[in-house]
Amino acid sequence: MNKNSTMRIVCPECGNDTDFFEVADGVIITTRYVQNDDCSFSQDGDESQILGDIKFYCAECNADLSYSHQRFLAMLF
Ligand SMILES: [Zn+2]
Repeated sequence: MNKNSTMRIVCPECGNDTDFFEVADGVIITTRYVQNDDCSFSQDGDESQILGDIKFYCAECNADLSYSHQRFLAMLF
């Protein structure tokens, strides 16, 4: 137990505190391209929009931990 254990996200179902995944619903991925003089294309910007919910899950047992998502974002560096 370290001193930050109260801030640590722990799955209440299986106790996993290391592996998680985030799922975004209804994502529109728009990528802009520029065609070069030699007919090749270069990516020029990436505008993605999330229309739906963002869910946060335990990667061990798939428990829905979305209530911890705000804390996850706050601790994401
Ligand atoms: Zn779990």
